[in-house]
Amino acid sequence: MILLTGGAGYIGLHTAAVLIGAGHEVVLFDNFSNSKPLGVERLEAIAGRPVPCVQGDVRSRQDMDGLFDQHSISAVVHFAGLKAVGESAEQPLRYYDNNVTGTLVLLEAMIRAEVRRIVFSSSACVYGDPDFSPVPESAALRPANTYGRTKLMVEEILRDLHIAAPDWSIALLRYFNPVGAHPSGLIGEDPNGIPNNLMPFVTQVAVGRRPELRVFGGDYPTPDGTGVRDYIHVMDLAEGHRAALDWTLCDPREVLAANLGTGCGYSVLDLVKAFERASGQAIPHRIVARRAGDVAANWADPSFAGQRLGWTAQRTLDDMCRDAWNWQRQNPRGFA
Ligand code: NAD
Ligand code: UDP
Repeated sequence: MILLTGGAGYIGLHTAAVLIGAGHEVVLFDNFSNSKPLGVERLEAIAGRPVPCVQGDVRSRQDMDGLFDQHSISAVVHFAGLKAVGESAEQPLRYYDNNVTGTLVLLEAMIRAEVRRIVFSSSACVYGDPDFSPVPESAALRPANTYGRTKLMVEEILRDLHIAAPDWSIALLRYFNPVGAHPSGLIGEDPNGIPNNLMPFVTQVAVGRRPELRVFGGDYPTPDGTGVRDYIHVMDLAEGHRAALDWTLCDPREVLAANLGTGCGYSVLDLVKAFERASGQAIPHRIVARRAGDVAANWADPSFAGQRLGWTAQRTLDDMCRDAWNWQRQNPRGFA
């Protein structure tokens, strides 16, 4: 059985759907601090059967030991964590506690349970403002915010653990910009409050929940002046987890860090145009000042994941927009 911490969240649900489809048994574990039980019910509808989900906190030794006692777990995919960059600057201790302490408590429980395979949700944030794109895994690691530092710390903790315990198999997956939704429209991204990220903001404008999109900066040194990112369909990302999980299950006994991106950069205006095409909805938008902390452009060199995991992203920006719209149109209020 595969444990998905944070499994009721956006990426966790989509990964669970892919793993179940590939024949894996999964158990989700989540404290529902940023997700809802309805998401798990929707996953069950996709899977066509019940999916075990345990409510608890990765920072609780009691919760973690109980989980490993009750389930025969062979590997862990560790999604649980907090992810809002701005909030991480305002509440650094909460971020270190959730993301770093939470991982330590999980790893200690894994050691007690003799589970030595883990896939960790890292982020392109570990690169900060890269010197160039496409960004390879060998690029300098210099996160520009607290959230990114929590991710880099966990990567380093896992590398140190591997030095002490070389029989562990560890995949560090550095996600670029996950967007889109399951093609059924039953699950998708449902941020709390005003979305920080571009795609959920665009989809909320499309359903009339927000009057207009503010485009942060029109004077970047990019082809149209707006920021360029590597948007990756969440189903491709989920398949990347499946590939990484299958790699750990072969017991390679190494630490592997891999970018999960498409290798293509698109600007904010490219995404808006693609979304308008996919949805038939006009997205009123206005260029405003740059957002503090944003970089002009970053996109992945995903070739290492291709070589080592046999995984490459398949879906286009149009697919991402179509599926994001399909989800938001069917669920204008998300899981509420
Ligand atoms: P999400 O918030 O939808 O999912 C995270 C889940 O973890 C939520 O369901 C939340 O309730 C749960 N959780 C948080 N703290 C917990 C705790 N202490 N104990 C138990 N459960 C807890 O976020 P997501 O977009 O699915 O991201 C999953 C992971 O991927 C996170 O670690 C995030 O930092 C990382 N990541 C996300 C992105 C992105 O853009 N979505 C990019 C790079 C990395
Ligand atoms: N962005 C924007 N308006 C928004 C949200 C985001 O113009 O309301 C831009 C942002 O400046 C960046 C891109 O969209 O250039 C992607 O931002 P997002 O927050 O989704 O991801 P990031 O790469 O910053 O993690």
